[in-house]
Amino acid sequence: HTDVIETDAVIVGAGPVGLFQIFELGLLEIRAHIVDSLAYPGGQCIELYPDKPIYDIPAVPVCTGKELTDNLLRQIEPFGATFHLGQEVTVVDKQDDGRFAVETSKGTRFLTKTVFIAGGVGSFQPRTLKVEGVEPFEGTQVHYRVKTPADFAGKHLLIIGGGDSALDWALNFCAANADGNPHKAESVILMHRRDDFRAAPASVAKMRALCDAHEMQLIIGQAVGIDERDGQLTGLKVAGNDGVTRVVPCDQVLTFFGLSPKLGPIADWGVALERKQVVVDTEKFETSVPGIFAVGDVNTYPGKKKLILSGFHEAALAAFGAAPHVFPDRRVHLQYTTTSPKLHKVLGVE
Ligand code: FAD
Repeated sequence: HTDVIETDAVIVGAGPVGLFQIFELGLLEIRAHIVDSLAYPGGQCIELYPDKPIYDIPAVPVCTGKELTDNLLRQIEPFGATFHLGQEVTVVDKQDDGRFAVETSKGTRFLTKTVFIAGGVGSFQPRTLKVEGVEPFEGTQVHYRVKTPADFAGKHLLIIGGGDSALDWALNFCAANADGNPHKAESVILMHRRDDFRAAPASVAKMRALCDAHEMQLIIGQAVGIDERDGQLTGLKVAGNDGVTRVVPCDQVLTFFGLSPKLGPIADWGVALERKQVVVDTEKFETSVPGIFAVGDVNTYPGKKKLILSGFHEAALAAFGAAPHVFPDRRVHLQYTTTSPKLHKVLGVE
């Protein structure tokens, strides 16, 4: 058993909004601990687009996802929040004294007066192939991501999907794509449910040219079953758009149906949800459980837009909303960082 950490606030999620929540709480002298399941702060900005430019942060004409994260980390430095990374918050449980017992997957335990859910879109999980009998082959012959391209060299591949991942990997493993590619497959069949692709037009054109040259094959159809022999997957049963079901033989199936966000443990904390998002008011961004607030992409309210700038505003009002829970006897007033000696003191800029 580790010691229980007593604190004013625990922030779940260290994306841009969770990070800025530290700042807004800090101005009100509310101490915070922050937890993220990723090993680094920054959320989607770091995980999905560290080098892409963002143009709609007020007064910052352009910055990358990484620059935004670095600047937020610098801005919150004065408040000395404690980071607990590489661990997921699994439990949030209201106690009799009104505080919350919070636990992470690594066994870190908190007793906190308030909780701020800044979990974004949660953790991304690949959409799976929904075909009976496929589970035993997942990870061995049916894959949702390519970890080691070399595993697929020299194999007969069936690649399913119509987006960039499916097309990119199909082209990559296609024998004719021989510009130094060391991981050529023996054969590549691309399958999509209709002859219309979401992928980049240049990739689609390349794919069609390779099909015309008989270097790869395109099938329009949908997997409806598996073909197996002696515990090995030998192919998929595919319903074509001519209504006929045929067996498409293959050694390995690579499925790219995109990622779907999974809310994860947040769904079990007793806060009201609507379409997998946490319902909040727009005065304090408080959830249906007093003392638990939700900010950023994870919340929903009339007119919600999933923008970083909206999350920053929400974090400011949530901090004021939380103040009475932390300081029941204190009246909290709005002060300007420009002119307030008190804020200069907490910011360490006296
Ligand atoms: P996130 O950034 O999603 O961070 C949430 C964090 O919570 C994650 O790190 C996750 O690991 C963690 N987490 C979730 N559940 C738990 C748990 N139980 N325990 C511990 N940790 C947990 N927005 C703009 O305003 N302008 C743009 O130009 C822009 N461009 C974008 C481009 C792309 C390609 C993408 C994908 C998004 C873009 N966005 C943009 C959207 C913006 O990134 C999001 O609005 C923003 O990241 C939301 O921040 P957040 O802190 O709410 O959540």
